[in-house]
Amino acid sequence: MRSSPRRTRRYAAVLALPLALTLNALPVLADPSPQPVPPDRASSTAQDGVALLRVVVPDHAAVDRLVALGVDLAEYTKPVDGGIEVHAVLSPGEAQGLRDQGFDVRDAISDQGDYAANIAERRQALASAAADAAETDTLTPLRAEWFTSLDDQRFLSVEVKSSATDAQTVLTATWDSGPGTAPDSGGTATMSRFTDAGQYMYHRFSAPIPVTQAPTKVTVTSSRGGSVTVPVTKWLGEKRKPPSRHYVSDFIDHYMDPTEITGRITALARQFPKVAEIVDLPYRTNGYRRAAQAQFGTGTGAAAASTFYVSSRAYGSEGGNDVSLALVKPGAAGTPLSVAVSGKNVAVTLATDASGAIGSTAVQVVAALNGDAAASALLTAATYRGNAGNGVVAEAPATRLTDGLLAPATVSRQPFQMKALRIGKHRDGSKVGVFLYCQEHAREWVTPVTCVETAERLLRNYAQDAATRKIVDNLDIFVMPTANPDGGHYSMYDYNMQRRNMTNHCPVTNGDPGRRNSWGVDLNRNFTVGSVFDGYNGATTTCTNDTFAGPSELSEPETRNQVWLVDTFPNIRFAMNTHSYGGYFMWPPGAYKTAGRETLPRADFGTESFFWNASSHILSAVQGRRGTAIWPGRTGPVVDVLYSAAGNSADEHWYNRGIIGWDFEVGADVYDQAAKQYRAVGFQPPFEEGHEEAMEFSNGQIAILEVARAYGEDTHKPDSRLKELAKDDTSATFTFTTDEPANVYYTIDGSRPTLSSPKLAAAGMREGAQRITVNQTTEVHWFAVDIAGNVEKNYKPDGDGDNYNKETVKVRGRR
Ligand SMILES: [Zn+2]
Repeated sequence: MRSSPRRTRRYAAVLALPLALTLNALPVLADPSPQPVPPDRASSTAQDGVALLRVVVPDHAAVDRLVALGVDLAEYTKPVDGGIEVHAVLSPGEAQGLRDQGFDVRDAISDQGDYAANIAERRQALASAAADAAETDTLTPLRAEWFTSLDDQRFLSVEVKSSATDAQTVLTATWDSGPGTAPDSGGTATMSRFTDAGQYMYHRFSAPIPVTQAPTKVTVTSSRGGSVTVPVTKWLGEKRKPPSRHYVSDFIDHYMDPTEITGRITALARQFPKVAEIVDLPYRTNGYRRAAQAQFGTGTGAAAASTFYVSSRAYGSEGGNDVSLALVKPGAAGTPLSVAVSGKNVAVTLATDASGAIGSTAVQVVAALNGDAAASALLTAATYRGNAGNGVVAEAPATRLTDGLLAPATVSRQPFQMKALRIGKHRDGSKVGVFLYCQEHAREWVTPVTCVETAERLLRNYAQDAATRKIVDNLDIFVMPTANPDGGHYSMYDYNMQRRNMTNHCPVTNGDPGRRNSWGVDLNRNFTVGSVFDGYNGATTTCTNDTFAGPSELSEPETRNQVWLVDTFPNIRFAMNTHSYGGYFMWPPGAYKTAGRETLPRADFGTESFFWNASSHILSAVQGRRGTAIWPGRTGPVVDVLYSAAGNSADEHWYNRGIIGWDFEVGADVYDQAAKQYRAVGFQPPFEEGHEEAMEFSNGQIAILEVARAYGEDTHKPDSRLKELAKDDTSATFTFTTDEPANVYYTIDGSRPTLSSPKLAAAGMREGAQRITVNQTTEVHWFAVDIAGNVEKNYKPDGDGDNYNKETVKVRGRR
């Protein structure tokens, strides 16, 4: 709309320069003479003070006057107090000229300082791009896999990291269509650049690419010249022993609230007393309860000043719902403001002025209620969202306060007794413990039924299924199906998108009933490792935010119960935190500091290898139900594949206690064959889909127990090899391989290797083993230790034996 004056002015300038116009029309132009500029409009680099300034004018007529004056207005107007705000590009002289004519010229939106910063930033980006362009980039293949999912559709997933980190580097993948076919016969696709917290991570497909045949090799080429060809391996599809003929499953047929869930595990413990018992957790939750409230006034716009609200002292369920408040307009003029209480009924007689009109403001009524002993024993009052409350209130009939809670009476309004179901033949701490917990986030309705399904399968198959018996006889399993019962009830009956618990930590400025769905603590942000209080990213201290970390670490009984459980049963070595949705399998680290994207320490290479191995077993089990493949790109450390989640529980268990803390996100995207695209399933899919998700991820939970059992019974000592990778006249490069996930400790100075010696690391995020280069012939000493602590050849790292591995890496021409 307001661009016309600018066009007019430019057109005028062009008219004044017929020569330039003619020259510009010519196809080839050697060196056009610079266009003269008005005297106070020197080029930006001359720093003559031209800025984009705010101008406030009283009305449209004044805007028209600016236009008529030829002022360079931006295409922007905004109604403000006192008129219309427009933005004008003005030199100091022009601004003064307008002020002299009575225009209200205000502050700058941007000036040439911003211009200089933009140009500097641009120059830096171009310089680093030029530096990158100067040499061919190096491509590091991270993963290249094919897999089948639902209905046997095949997919390709590729992850490659370029040494050039700028956004102009474009990677393209090309693949064949099976053994013996042309390298490009399968297809080609541009990869997407994955960045997090402003840092380049790697390139990948935004979703796996459907392919008709399984490729054998993929070649990735870069616009910077780099190229790499790697074999494509199969992801998942590990063959699993079919369950025995007597195996039973599928014990859930509807979404269950936390009361039902807890009733179910209690009944299971009663039915299978030899192999199960209930563990009552020591901290009761705050409970499915709230203060009763009422708001007087709408709170919107100007009415906010005359709006206030009251909250009962007692919870609604404990008498708060019986309290009422009336705002009475007296019949007489000149009446003072007063408060009267009869039983649980509070009446405020509003003040009237000489003409009989109401004179009491919201803040006066609030003060009167809070200052009256009998009234303030029943309720507290506050103005609306911090408003000064200077508006005159309206009369109102007696209004009952309400907690607004809609759950049926079967849901207790008392603090909730959280329970875990402990399953195992030997529940004496002698067996490896596994902690399976679900529904930390209230709205993730599929997760509690997943935990219940797993418990049922373990107990009901114990008598007849040998594989189940092995698990139950050799592990100590703790199932906490609902880690957030109050929030779970609220999600089912009051506000289905509730994520947090129900406890309101907001000050009165955010305590009005309109905020009732914005209260609570995100339990998976309330733990003590890498928390928002430690400066980590992915949680907030804003009480109305969905990732509110709480007033302090472990402020909530729900999180203290988790910590109590893992502290009380130190035999717990594995934990699985089951969430929804998206189809993820993840492990620590789960948080980073935003500055520099500094993550919590990564697991060592042996442990990381163990996680990848375990994921193959666990995710193949998930796939066994209906073919769902969790993507390679959704498998890995939380910070690599999802985001930073400051103060989450998996990090708590891993960093404070060494418990392997895994996370599931059930509910993988479902591939729509007709539309040829993946679709997200959401928190509460139709139960038909939710049921499938619970069944497949219960498979996954059982597979976790199998991994834990194998760990508990692992007496196999790892076997490792030194592998030479490259050699020239002046150096040799090698790494180590192991026959199972294990850490390798080595020395290259001829000394005896110990647990303090260098440990073989990963070459980088999602990369293979580190490559070690030596510049002279070197005797390498090393040994391997697996995750269960078995040491290769029974070597004693802290002893004095010499039964470690020794091998000489020769460098040609050197000793
Ligand atoms: Zn969640």
